[in-house]
Parts: sequence; structure tokens; C-alpha cells
Amino acid sequence: MKIICIGRNYDAHIRELNNEVPEEPVIFIKPDTALLRNNNPFFIPDFSNEIHHEVELVVKIKKPGRHIPVQFAKDYYDEVSLGIDFTARDVQNRLKSKGLPWEKAKGFDHSAAIANFLPLSVLTQGENNGINDCHFHLEKNGEIVQKGHTKHMIHTVDEIIAHVSQYFGLRIGDYIFTGTPEGVGPVQSGDQLKGVLAGQTLFDFSIR
Ligand code: ZN
Repeated sequence: MKIICIGRNYDAHIRELNNEVPEEPVIFIKPDTALLRNNNPFFIPDFSNEIHHEVELVVKIKKPGRHIPVQFAKDYYDEVSLGIDFTARDVQNRLKSKGLPWEKAKGFDHSAAIANFLPLSVLTQGENNGINDCHFHLEKNGEIVQKGHTKHMIHTVDEIIAHVSQYFGLRIGDYIFTGTPEGVGPVQSGDQLKGVLAGQTLFDFSIR
């Protein structure tokens, strides 16, 4: 199992980090040791003083594939969840400034929190109209800090799957983090993070 992440997929988030809008999706991978499940607490690692939350829609791959055409991408997933792409922003900025890979900043242990998966049908409830038009948010200590609307993704989930699968074969059980909306910010010990997708609370865990 691997965790594939997309960077810079929402315009307003690209602006808040002063990055350039990419012509094609920015891809990075977290190892399976990055997984954090079941509302277990996240422990701040010693090597960073600036861990940021990035709340993201996550899809789970249900059949193997390579070089998937965009019009068939929807056949490769039927469950969605929410996750946090924990990022050591200080480490990332240091590596980025030297033009080095981000792995230490993005792929460290427990940096990929993922909630339970739900069928795609939950994304048609209330004001939501499917995976390309659904709402999610992150609350930190009861206050909304990030709000996402998948309509504002630069690359849709299907486009992401088509693009990623040109480089990396997809296997059953792989996870794809689809990028974070604006509002990323630091977490500290004692914080409580709650993620809501299409009106349903998917995760609620603490930072230690
Ligand atoms: Zn991210």
C-alpha cells in the first residue's frame, strides 16, 4: 500500500504559500509507516517546530491500474474519506530552498492521518453534488480553520488518477490525498482536530 499526495491543487492555498501554479499535478508519496488511523493522537516529532495541518479529501483505490484514461478513472474508487497531510513546514522550507526532495517534511511517521471511508453516496447529501462539488472543513479546538470545496480543485480526482497512473501503478488499497485548500496552519500539543465531510464528522483526535 502506498499513499500518493497531490500538492498545490487549490488556487488560494498556492497563493498563501507564495508558490507558482503548476502546469501539471505536483506528486509526492508517503510510505505506509506514515499512516495514522482510528483517531489515534498525533505526537509532534522532535525534529520540527512547525507542524502544519493540511486537511484533504482522500480516495481509496479499489482496483489495480496503470495508464488509466481520465474517462475511466471513476471505476477505480468508490469510497472517500478525509485526512490530514501533516507537514513539517520548517523542514520543508529548508529543503525547498536547497532544491532538495521533501520526504523528511512530508513522509515521516504518522504524517498521514486518515479517517474511516464512506461510500461516494454521502457526497450527494445536503448541499453536496458528488465528488467534484462537495464540502469539507477542519476544526481546530472547535473553530473552523480550513474550508474546502472540491469545485475549486485545479485538477479533479479523475484527472489526478489519470495523471498519477502514468507514473505509478495503482494497487488495491492505495490512498490518494487530493490536495489542501487554504488555511493551513500550525498545530501544538493539546490541540484537538476534527474533520467534517459532507456534514459528517469523520475524525476527531488530539495533538500531543
Ligand atoms: Zn497536502
